[in-house]
Amino acid sequence: MQPLLEVSYLSTKFSTPDGQVNAVNDVSFQLFPGESLGIVGESGSGKTQVFMSIMGLLAENGKTSGSVRFKGQELLLMSRERLNEVRGSDMSLIFQDPMTSLNPFLKVSKQLTEVLIEHTGISMQEARAVCIEMLSKVGIPEPIKRFDMYPHEFSGGMRQRVMIAMALLCQPDLLIADEPTTALDVTIQAQILKLMNDLKREMNTAIVMITHDLGVVAGLCDRVLVMYGGRIVESGTVREIFYNPKHPYTMGLLASMPRLDGSGHTSLQAIPGQPPNLQNLPKGCSFHPRCPYAQDRCKLDHPPLRKVGDNRLSACLLESFS
Ligand code: SF4
Repeated sequence: MQPLLEVSYLSTKFSTPDGQVNAVNDVSFQLFPGESLGIVGESGSGKTQVFMSIMGLLAENGKTSGSVRFKGQELLLMSRERLNEVRGSDMSLIFQDPMTSLNPFLKVSKQLTEVLIEHTGISMQEARAVCIEMLSKVGIPEPIKRFDMYPHEFSGGMRQRVMIAMALLCQPDLLIADEPTTALDVTIQAQILKLMNDLKREMNTAIVMITHDLGVVAGLCDRVLVMYGGRIVESGTVREIFYNPKHPYTMGLLASMPRLDGSGHTSLQAIPGQPPNLQNLPKGCSFHPRCPYAQDRCKLDHPPLRKVGDNRLSACLLESFS
Protein backbone atom coordinates (compact mmCIF):
# COMPACT_ATOMS: atom_id res chain seq x y z
CA MET A 1 0.00 0.00 0.00
CA GLN A 2 1.27 3.49 -0.86
CA PRO A 3 1.56 5.89 2.07
CA LEU A 4 -0.92 8.76 2.07
CA LEU A 5 1.64 11.02 3.69
CA GLU A 6 5.39 10.55 3.57
CA VAL A 7 7.55 12.96 5.55
CA SER A 8 11.32 12.73 5.09
CA TYR A 9 13.98 14.63 7.02
CA LEU A 10 11.64 17.54 7.73
CA SER A 11 13.35 20.41 9.55
CA THR A 12 11.88 23.78 10.46
CA LYS A 13 13.80 26.75 11.75
CA PHE A 14 12.60 30.18 12.84
CA SER A 15 14.76 33.30 12.68
CA THR A 16 14.15 35.50 15.70
CA PRO A 17 15.91 38.62 17.01
CA ASP A 18 17.43 36.35 19.71
CA GLY A 19 18.77 33.78 17.26
CA GLN A 20 17.62 30.69 15.39
CA VAL A 21 14.97 28.38 16.87
CA ASN A 22 15.30 24.76 15.68
CA ALA A 23 11.67 23.76 16.12
CA VAL A 24 11.68 20.55 14.04
CA ASN A 25 14.79 18.46 13.37
CA ASP A 26 15.03 15.65 10.81
CA VAL A 27 11.53 14.26 11.33
CA SER A 28 10.58 11.30 9.10
CA PHE A 29 7.47 9.10 9.14
CA GLN A 30 4.76 7.61 6.95
CA LEU A 31 0.98 7.57 7.36
CA PHE A 32 -1.25 5.13 5.49
CA PRO A 33 -4.90 5.62 4.37
CA GLY A 34 -7.35 5.15 7.24
CA GLU A 35 -4.56 4.99 9.84
CA SER A 36 -4.51 7.14 12.98
CA LEU A 37 -1.23 8.46 14.31
CA GLY A 38 -0.69 10.17 17.65
CA ILE A 39 2.10 12.71 18.03
CA VAL A 40 2.85 13.26 21.69
CA GLY A 41 5.23 15.38 23.70
CA GLU A 42 5.24 18.27 26.16
CA SER A 43 4.74 21.89 25.10
CA GLY A 44 7.68 23.00 23.02
CA SER A 45 8.50 19.48 21.78
CA GLY A 46 7.91 20.62 18.18
CA LYS A 47 4.81 18.45 17.63
CA THR A 48 2.54 21.29 16.47
CA GLN A 49 5.24 22.82 14.27
CA VAL A 50 5.58 19.52 12.36
CA PHE A 51 2.03 19.93 11.12
CA MET A 52 2.13 23.67 10.66
CA SER A 53 5.13 22.92 8.38
CA ILE A 54 3.28 20.16 6.50
CA MET A 55 0.23 22.36 5.97
CA GLY A 56 2.33 25.38 4.89
CA LEU A 57 0.99 27.44 7.80
CA LEU A 58 4.27 28.63 9.30
CA ALA A 59 4.82 32.20 10.43
CA GLU A 60 6.82 34.32 7.98
CA ASN A 61 10.08 33.87 9.88
CA GLY A 62 9.82 30.06 9.54
CA LYS A 63 11.77 28.04 6.96
CA THR A 64 11.25 24.37 6.17
CA SER A 65 13.53 21.84 4.45
CA GLY A 66 13.22 18.14 3.62
CA SER A 67 10.31 16.52 1.83
CA VAL A 68 6.56 16.13 2.47
CA ARG A 69 4.75 13.97 -0.09
CA PHE A 70 0.96 13.82 0.18
CA LYS A 71 -0.75 11.41 -2.25
CA GLY A 72 2.53 11.40 -4.17
CA GLN A 73 2.73 15.19 -4.54
CA GLU A 74 5.50 17.25 -2.96
CA LEU A 75 3.79 19.82 -0.72
CA LEU A 76 6.88 21.86 0.11
CA LEU A 77 7.27 22.84 -3.57
CA MET A 78 3.58 23.54 -4.20
CA SER A 79 2.30 27.03 -5.07
CA ARG A 80 0.25 28.77 -2.37
CA GLU A 81 -2.88 28.53 -4.59
CA ARG A 82 -2.51 24.79 -5.12
CA LEU A 83 -1.76 24.25 -1.43
CA ASN A 84 -4.95 26.14 -0.55
CA GLU A 85 -6.89 23.76 -2.80
CA VAL A 86 -5.37 20.70 -1.11
CA ARG A 87 -6.03 22.13 2.36
CA GLY A 88 -9.72 22.02 3.01
CA SER A 89 -10.49 19.45 0.34
CA ASP A 90 -7.94 16.62 0.72
CA MET A 91 -6.64 17.51 4.19
CA SER A 92 -8.24 19.44 7.03
CA LEU A 93 -7.14 20.82 10.37
CA ILE A 94 -8.97 20.99 13.70
CA PHE A 95 -7.53 23.36 16.28
CA GLN A 96 -7.82 23.33 20.07
CA ASP A 97 -9.88 26.51 20.08
CA PRO A 98 -12.86 26.30 17.69
CA MET A 99 -12.96 30.08 17.52
CA THR A 100 -9.61 29.94 15.67
CA SER A 101 -11.54 28.53 12.72
CA LEU A 102 -15.04 29.92 13.27
CA ASN A 103 -15.80 33.56 12.55
CA PRO A 104 -17.88 34.89 15.49
CA PHE A 105 -19.64 37.42 13.23
CA LEU A 106 -20.95 34.93 10.66
CA LYS A 107 -23.71 32.38 11.04
CA VAL A 108 -22.57 28.75 11.08
CA SER A 109 -24.64 28.15 7.91
CA LYS A 110 -22.65 30.75 5.96
CA GLN A 111 -19.29 29.45 7.18
CA LEU A 112 -20.05 25.82 6.38
CA THR A 113 -21.69 26.35 2.98
CA GLU A 114 -18.88 28.68 1.87
CA VAL A 115 -16.27 25.96 2.48
CA LEU A 116 -18.27 23.37 0.58
CA ILE A 117 -19.18 25.60 -2.37
CA GLU A 118 -15.59 26.83 -2.72
CA HIS A 119 -14.14 23.31 -2.83
CA THR A 120 -16.87 21.43 -4.71
CA GLY A 121 -18.74 24.07 -6.73
CA ILE A 122 -22.19 22.69 -5.78
CA SER A 123 -25.28 24.93 -5.52
CA MET A 124 -26.29 26.72 -2.30
CA GLN A 125 -29.36 24.51 -1.94
CA GLU A 126 -27.30 21.30 -2.23
CA ALA A 127 -24.64 22.73 0.08
CA ARG A 128 -27.23 23.50 2.79
CA ALA A 129 -28.54 19.93 2.65
CA VAL A 130 -25.03 18.41 2.86
CA CYS A 131 -24.01 20.71 5.74
CA ILE A 132 -27.14 19.98 7.78
CA GLU A 133 -26.59 16.27 7.28
CA MET A 134 -22.97 16.64 8.46
CA LEU A 135 -24.07 18.59 11.56
CA SER A 136 -26.43 15.75 12.35
CA LYS A 137 -23.63 13.22 11.81
CA VAL A 138 -21.34 14.96 14.31
CA GLY A 139 -24.11 14.92 16.89
CA ILE A 140 -25.54 18.46 16.80
CA PRO A 141 -29.13 18.18 18.04
CA GLU A 142 -31.83 19.89 15.93
CA PRO A 143 -29.35 20.72 13.16
CA ILE A 144 -31.92 22.46 10.93
CA LYS A 145 -32.81 24.89 13.69
CA ARG A 146 -29.22 25.46 14.77
CA PHE A 147 -27.83 25.81 11.26
CA ASP A 148 -28.58 29.54 11.13
CA MET A 149 -27.20 30.35 14.57
CA TYR A 150 -23.98 32.21 15.39
CA PRO A 151 -20.99 30.34 16.98
CA HIS A 152 -21.52 32.03 20.37
CA GLU A 153 -24.97 30.41 20.57
CA PHE A 154 -23.29 26.97 20.76
CA SER A 155 -21.59 25.48 23.86
CA GLY A 156 -17.81 24.76 23.77
CA GLY A 157 -18.34 21.07 22.96
CA MET A 158 -20.91 21.89 20.27
CA ARG A 159 -18.58 24.46 18.68
CA GLN A 160 -15.88 21.77 18.53
CA ARG A 161 -18.39 19.49 16.78
CA VAL A 162 -19.20 22.27 14.31
CA MET A 163 -15.49 22.61 13.60
CA ILE A 164 -15.17 18.85 13.06
CA ALA A 165 -18.17 19.03 10.71
CA MET A 166 -16.47 21.84 8.80
CA ALA A 167 -13.22 19.86 8.61
CA LEU A 168 -15.02 16.78 7.27
CA LEU A 169 -17.34 18.48 4.78
CA CYS A 170 -15.15 17.77 1.77
CA GLN A 171 -14.45 14.22 2.99
CA PRO A 172 -10.70 14.76 3.41
CA ASP A 173 -8.29 11.83 3.19
CA LEU A 174 -6.35 13.30 6.11
CA LEU A 175 -7.62 15.03 9.24
CA ILE A 176 -5.06 16.73 11.48
CA ALA A 177 -6.29 17.53 14.97
CA ASP A 178 -4.16 19.71 17.26
CA GLU A 179 -5.21 19.18 20.90
CA PRO A 180 -8.89 19.17 19.84
CA THR A 181 -10.25 18.16 23.23
CA THR A 182 -7.89 19.91 25.66
CA ALA A 183 -10.28 22.78 26.42
CA LEU A 184 -13.28 20.48 26.94
CA ASP A 185 -14.49 18.71 30.06
CA VAL A 186 -13.90 14.97 30.33
CA THR A 187 -17.39 13.86 29.28
CA ILE A 188 -17.40 16.02 26.14
CA GLN A 189 -13.81 14.94 25.46
CA ALA A 190 -14.91 11.29 25.44
CA GLN A 191 -17.82 12.11 23.11
CA ILE A 192 -15.57 13.96 20.64
CA LEU A 193 -13.04 11.08 20.62
CA LYS A 194 -15.82 8.56 20.01
CA LEU A 195 -17.12 10.75 17.21
CA MET A 196 -13.66 10.89 15.58
CA ASN A 197 -13.31 7.11 15.93
CA ASP A 198 -16.72 6.56 14.29
CA LEU A 199 -15.93 8.96 11.46
CA LYS A 200 -12.55 7.32 10.89
CA ARG A 201 -14.24 3.94 10.52
CA GLU A 202 -17.09 5.24 8.39
CA MET A 203 -15.11 7.49 6.03
CA ASN A 204 -11.69 5.76 6.18
CA THR A 205 -10.14 9.15 7.00
CA ALA A 206 -6.52 9.03 8.20
CA ILE A 207 -6.13 11.00 11.43
CA VAL A 208 -3.14 12.69 13.00
CA MET A 209 -3.78 13.56 16.64
CA ILE A 210 -1.32 16.04 18.13
CA THR A 211 -1.57 15.99 21.90
CA HIS A 212 0.26 16.02 25.23
CA ASP A 213 -2.36 13.59 26.57
CA LEU A 214 -1.46 9.91 26.25
CA GLY A 215 -5.00 8.99 27.31
CA VAL A 216 -6.34 10.64 24.14
CA VAL A 217 -3.83 8.68 22.06
CA ALA A 218 -4.82 5.39 23.72
CA GLY A 219 -8.46 6.05 22.85
CA LEU A 220 -7.98 6.85 19.19
CA CYS A 221 -4.62 5.98 17.64
CA ASP A 222 -3.01 2.98 15.98
CA ARG A 223 0.56 4.27 16.14
CA VAL A 224 2.47 6.86 18.16
CA LEU A 225 5.41 9.19 17.58
CA VAL A 226 6.95 10.62 20.74
CA MET A 227 8.71 13.98 20.24
CA TYR A 228 11.27 15.75 22.41
CA GLY A 229 13.41 18.78 21.60
CA GLY A 230 12.01 18.94 18.04
CA ARG A 231 12.95 15.33 17.25
CA ILE A 232 11.21 11.97 17.22
CA VAL A 233 12.66 10.00 20.14
CA GLU A 234 10.45 6.92 19.89
CA SER A 235 7.81 5.41 17.60
CA GLY A 236 5.72 2.24 17.70
CA THR A 237 2.18 0.93 17.97
CA VAL A 238 0.01 2.20 20.82
CA ARG A 239 0.30 -1.18 22.54
CA GLU A 240 4.13 -1.21 22.24
CA ILE A 241 4.49 2.34 23.51
CA PHE A 242 2.13 1.84 26.44
CA TYR A 243 3.20 -1.62 27.54
CA ASN A 244 6.86 -1.70 26.53
CA PRO A 245 8.30 1.82 26.19
CA LYS A 246 11.96 1.85 25.11
CA HIS A 247 12.93 5.49 25.57
CA PRO A 248 13.39 7.02 29.04
CA TYR A 249 11.36 10.10 28.00
CA THR A 250 8.40 7.91 26.99
CA MET A 251 8.73 6.07 30.30
CA GLY A 252 8.62 9.44 32.07
CA LEU A 253 5.52 10.54 30.14
CA LEU A 254 3.75 7.30 31.02
CA ALA A 255 4.73 7.60 34.70
CA SER A 256 3.28 11.13 34.80
CA MET A 257 -0.05 9.98 33.38
CA PRO A 258 -2.92 9.39 35.82
CA ARG A 259 -3.59 5.63 36.21
CA LEU A 260 -4.74 3.10 38.75
CA ASP A 261 -1.76 1.19 40.18
CA GLY A 262 -3.68 -1.92 41.17
CA SER A 263 -4.23 -0.93 44.80
CA GLY A 264 -6.85 1.56 43.68
CA HIS A 265 -4.61 4.58 44.32
CA THR A 266 -3.49 7.01 41.68
CA SER A 267 0.28 7.01 41.24
CA LEU A 268 1.89 10.00 39.49
CA GLN A 269 5.52 10.95 38.92
CA ALA A 270 6.35 14.15 37.06
CA ILE A 271 9.44 14.29 34.81
CA PRO A 272 11.91 16.55 36.67
CA GLY A 273 13.12 19.78 35.04
CA GLN A 274 11.83 21.68 32.05
CA PRO A 275 11.64 20.89 28.32
CA PRO A 276 14.74 22.18 26.50
CA ASN A 277 15.06 25.59 24.93
CA LEU A 278 14.83 24.95 21.17
CA GLN A 279 17.15 27.90 20.60
CA ASN A 280 19.89 26.28 22.59
CA LEU A 281 19.45 22.51 22.76
CA PRO A 282 21.73 20.63 25.17
CA LYS A 283 24.72 18.94 23.51
CA GLY A 284 24.52 15.15 23.05
CA CYS A 285 21.11 13.70 23.95
CA SER A 286 18.81 16.68 24.53
CA PHE A 287 16.98 14.71 27.25
CA HIS A 288 20.15 14.13 29.32
CA PRO A 289 19.58 16.93 31.89
CA ARG A 290 16.27 15.25 32.88
CA CYS A 291 17.06 11.59 32.25
CA PRO A 292 17.41 9.33 35.31
CA TYR A 293 19.62 6.95 33.28
CA ALA A 294 21.99 9.58 31.79
CA GLN A 295 25.69 8.68 31.59
CA ASP A 296 28.70 10.81 30.70
CA ARG A 297 28.58 9.90 27.01
CA CYS A 298 24.92 11.08 26.84
CA LYS A 299 26.25 14.63 27.32
CA LEU A 300 28.47 14.34 24.23
CA ASP A 301 26.99 11.88 21.72
CA HIS A 302 23.78 12.52 19.83
CA PRO A 303 21.62 9.34 19.91
CA PRO A 304 20.36 8.47 16.42
CA LEU A 305 16.94 6.85 15.94
CA ARG A 306 17.56 3.14 15.60
CA LYS A 307 15.45 0.06 15.09
CA VAL A 308 14.39 -1.61 18.33
CA GLY A 309 11.84 -4.03 16.83
CA ASP A 310 9.60 -4.43 13.78
CA ASN A 311 8.58 -0.89 12.80
CA ARG A 312 9.85 0.38 16.16
CA LEU A 313 12.40 3.15 16.59
CA SER A 314 14.04 4.69 19.63
CA ALA A 315 16.79 7.28 20.08
CA CYS A 316 18.69 6.24 23.21
CA LEU A 317 22.38 5.36 23.51
CA LEU A 318 21.86 2.66 26.14
CA GLU A 319 21.85 -0.90 24.81
CA SER A 320 19.69 -1.98 27.76
CA PHE A 321 16.79 -0.02 26.24
CA SER A 322 16.98 -1.63 22.79
FE1 SF4 B 1 18.85 9.05 28.75
FE2 SF4 B 1 21.27 8.81 27.66
FE3 SF4 B 1 19.22 7.52 26.61
FE4 SF4 B 1 19.38 10.16 26.39
S1 SF4 B 1 20.76 8.67 25.49
S2 SF4 B 1 17.58 9.00 26.90
S3 SF4 B 1 20.28 10.69 28.36
S4 SF4 B 1 20.08 7.19 28.66
